[in-house]
Amino acid sequence: MSAISLYVHVPFCAARCPYCDFATAPATSRLRSRYLDALATEIGREGAALDRPSVRTLYVGGGTPSLIEPDEIASLAGALRDAFDLALEEATVEANPATLDRARLLAWRALGITRVSLGAQSLNTAGLRALGRTHQAEDTAAAVDAIRSLGLAVSLDLIFGWPGQTAEAWRADLGGAIALQPDHLSCYPLELNLEPEEAVANWPGAGWESVRRWRADAGAAQVDDEGMARLYRIAERTLQAAGYRHYEIANWARRGSECRHNLVYWRNGEWLGVGAGAHSHLAGARSRRPGALTAYLEMIDADAPRIADPLADDEADTAMLALRLDEGLDLVEYAGRFGDPAVARRRAALAASVALGLVRLDHDVARLTPRGRLLASEVFVRLLPDDDVATRSRVLAAT
Ligand code: SF4
Repeated sequence: MSAISLYVHVPFCAARCPYCDFATAPATSRLRSRYLDALATEIGREGAALDRPSVRTLYVGGGTPSLIEPDEIASLAGALRDAFDLALEEATVEANPATLDRARLLAWRALGITRVSLGAQSLNTAGLRALGRTHQAEDTAAAVDAIRSLGLAVSLDLIFGWPGQTAEAWRADLGGAIALQPDHLSCYPLELNLEPEEAVANWPGAGWESVRRWRADAGAAQVDDEGMARLYRIAERTLQAAGYRHYEIANWARRGSECRHNLVYWRNGEWLGVGAGAHSHLAGARSRRPGALTAYLEMIDADAPRIADPLADDEADTAMLALRLDEGLDLVEYAGRFGDPAVARRRAALAASVALGLVRLDHDVARLTPRGRLLASEVFVRLLPDDDVATRSRVLAAT
């Protein structure tokens, strides 16, 4: 098979952030070594099943992969090298500013890591407290220095719309982030409406009720939709003025520093995801592993296949994902992939969004307008078949 992209999920975190909906587990979990063994087993099996494919981009996400120990990183690297031909053009690891040290960074670099995505979230002490984060504002600058000293690229994640955040505080966060000169920035709105699904399953004593209370209080202290739109526009203006290109709804980069791995997702390419809660898209089919550690371990013990996603619609997904990018949805290219009837369906579905000024059509390429970026879920939902109610709610929840 041709080259793929590979996502590896390391779910462990020092503490659980109350807004988080990822598949996470305590770093002290008694299941940690069993999980890492199962992950190596899954990596070996997938590599063999796909005939040791070449891996072009690697993304180690979580969770907080930066907190696993150098010997654990070395074991993971060995499993990956045995199973795949690592012809890496880009390899990213996610890190928490407080759990990154030189020994771990050297171990990640030995694996082939080229960039670190740092979950700064805010550079403001009040912001970090409001988000329930355990690291300190000054940890981010120290982590950026450590990453740079090893010649690795830096991406910073920021969250806007945290409880009590003002426009001035957001400008200060953006200014502080720009001063650190990252290669790439991701800015996400604080989203509190998602169902936690399996997000709390691995955390004994940290049940949904405490998360629900935190989210209700945080939501009451958040700005409204118009306020969130204003914060988003501030990010657009500030980052563009600082030389960052807004290449995806929530992502900005210096030219040439766009995240190649995530571009594979947005172009709906081929990727394999391994680990708890990881999703895959291979040969036009989506599938996943469960986020609960016990369910994941049982599945790997039983050598069970990934769970197929019955809601996936490759045609609609490809159109929605392409619209997230500034390069947009090229309808000629889309016709080559899915045929003329599929293009006719998408054109009809886009007509209302064009009329509302949410989408612009230039020479067969559809792109979100600035207003469309703010109301992207309204555009995406129109691209789905009328009867696809479950997927519609999924899109509305995820944008
Ligand atoms: S936000 Fe990051 S550090 Fe916090 S629980 Fe989620 S994955 Fe872990």
